Amino acid sequence: CGIVAYLGPSTAKDVMLAGLARLEYRGYDSAGVASGPSHTIGVVKAAGKVSVLASRSSSSLNTGTVGIAHTRWATHGAPTDANAHPHTSSDGGLAIVHNGIVENFVALREELQRKGYRMASETDTELIAHLISDVRKQKWMPLEEAVRQALSQVQGAYGICVISSEEPDLLARKGSPLLLGIGEDEYLLASDASAVIERTRRATSPQRRGEGGRQRPTGSQITMIDDGSLSRLRPAVLLS
Ligand code: GLU
Repeated sequence: CGIVAYLGPSTAKDVMLAGLARLEYRGYDSAGVASGPSHTIGVVKAAGKVSVLASRSSSSLNTGTVGIAHTRWATHGAPTDANAHPHTSSDGGLAIVHNGIVENFVALREELQRKGYRMASETDTELIAHLISDVRKQKWMPLEEAVRQALSQVQGAYGICVISSEEPDLLARKGSPLLLGIGEDEYLLASDASAVIERTRRATSPQRRGEGGRQRPTGSQITMIDDGSLSRLRPAVLLS
């Protein structure tokens, strides 16, 4: 339903909760946030209102400066805490939010269960998290490559944002509306302009590499990888 993601110097959780509150008018049944980077990604989620989510604190979220957040409109699985996004891989090393539907849900779930993956939710979204870590378990590769390989197995129309405890990047696939807000040394990705308007009035739709790479005055940089549907954001401020 709604996505907000943040990458910059501020506490991601606070920026994202404000963004989620601005998406409330769209309707949703549950909400959640995840942030990193750290050895494990902090995740908090709740059925019901964003205010319920905001009242659930987790100290692991207080230091994260990259994060993903979601308001869910359930298609696969009831609106429960467990089914709210973000969903994580079994080792907690990556987290994902997702808008849309995985069409080949049944076949993918059976295959992952056969491989020994235990499902923590009833959602189609969780399968994508396991697929990405499965690709990486077979052969380690950069997150963007693992995401790309995992998504080649997924059918349907969908947008996702992914963070990993192993790298400081934010990865997104723009299969549904997703706009990029550019603030002071920071980026917001959101499914709706209302979620970024408090932080910046500068927004653009993520572009493909070759259509003009974006160099910010601060030296920070956004790179889109070649298939045009997957975006890689890497502000220099996070890489020092
Ligand atoms: N299909 C996903 C789910 O049921 C995402 C729904 C949405 O777009 O909010 O969790």
